[in-house]
Amino acid sequence: MSKRDFYEVLGVSKSDDEKAIKKAYRRLAMKYHPDRNPDDEEAAEKFREATAAYEVLTDSEKRAAYDQYGHAGVDGQAGFGGGGFGGAGAGGFGDIFGDVFGDIFGGGGGRQHNPNAPQRGSDLRYRLDLNLEEAVHGTTVSIKVPTMVECDTCDGTGSADKSDPVTCTTCGGHGQVRMQQGFFSVQQTCPACHGRGTQVKNPCRTCRGEGRRQDQKTLSVKIPPGVDTGDRIRLSGEGESGVNGGPTGDLYVQVSVRQHAIFERDGKDLYCEVPVSFVDAALGGELEVPTLDGRVKLKIPAETQSGKMFRLRGKGVKPVRGGSQGDLLCRVQVETPVNLTSRQKELLQEFQDSMEDTSHKHSPKKSGWFDSVKNFFEDFKS
Ligand SMILES: [Zn+2]
Ligand SMILES: [Zn+2]
Repeated sequence: MSKRDFYEVLGVSKSDDEKAIKKAYRRLAMKYHPDRNPDDEEAAEKFREATAAYEVLTDSEKRAAYDQYGHAGVDGQAGFGGGGFGGAGAGGFGDIFGDVFGDIFGGGGGRQHNPNAPQRGSDLRYRLDLNLEEAVHGTTVSIKVPTMVECDTCDGTGSADKSDPVTCTTCGGHGQVRMQQGFFSVQQTCPACHGRGTQVKNPCRTCRGEGRRQDQKTLSVKIPPGVDTGDRIRLSGEGESGVNGGPTGDLYVQVSVRQHAIFERDGKDLYCEVPVSFVDAALGGELEVPTLDGRVKLKIPAETQSGKMFRLRGKGVKPVRGGSQGDLLCRVQVETPVNLTSRQKELLQEFQDSMEDTSHKHSPKKSGWFDSVKNFFEDFKS
């Protein structure tokens, strides 16, 4: 266990009251909570450290002992020795958790001391694949979502008759049992009632005593224009239904945009490659280029080089979070002609011959390149 000063751990001063300490702990715990940092040992350690400090500094007796004697005054009392969560010795954890987090993590963890407390239903995630047009223009999709709903045969009680449910005989209604594991006595969720504290003698046949059943619902989801891969749409209250009258979870629709045959998207801009004949590139001309709203004309000037980028303003994507519409960037790709007839080859040869003496004037890149090569070899000689 770390020996850092508890006040320093929480970033509070010795004169701060319990409220300030709670606030400081809450901030740290939000940041380092294992639920938010899975498999992060460093975060877990920080969380343990902050929790230990919180436990001592919010207990007036322990705080007084700590103020007077430092860690020596409270060591062996904190109850976090060898720490995991919810394991041996973490008796106080559930209470702290419920106290500070009850409203944030919604009964998700640690709060097991009251099996009949309302529990929020789980959030669901749905991966939605869209093509680029749908993502850019917006759409309405029908999605089927698996969900747990309250059993309507038994109204969620799980029992077939009114005398049920009865207090669980295994745990006496506590929802928790103590198990001996080696030297340790470990508190565990009651295996007979799964922490509910009650048992159903005559289970409902529809849900087999669960009180909830698996169902599928169809939702119509409006996708706003401009969404992109990674965007989430939260449908409040469309997740799994809660337990013991707890609130329903949320449904998160996770957007994933498929690759497009022509366009590549980068935020609000779109890119595409436009092939152009070397004659058009040399003489200039008008090209037809595709946009998501149909074809448009793009004028290219004479002597356009391969790789030249043309920007069509406002032909990109209007971002879902607002802001100006992006652009379409067309990269010109000059094509070498293929399948030439002998007549065409003759013409090209004639064309080539006509440039024999002056070829450096007609190939800006090539002449520059030859200069570089010449300089390179001259450097070599010296
Ligand atoms: Zn039922
Ligand atoms: Zn039980």
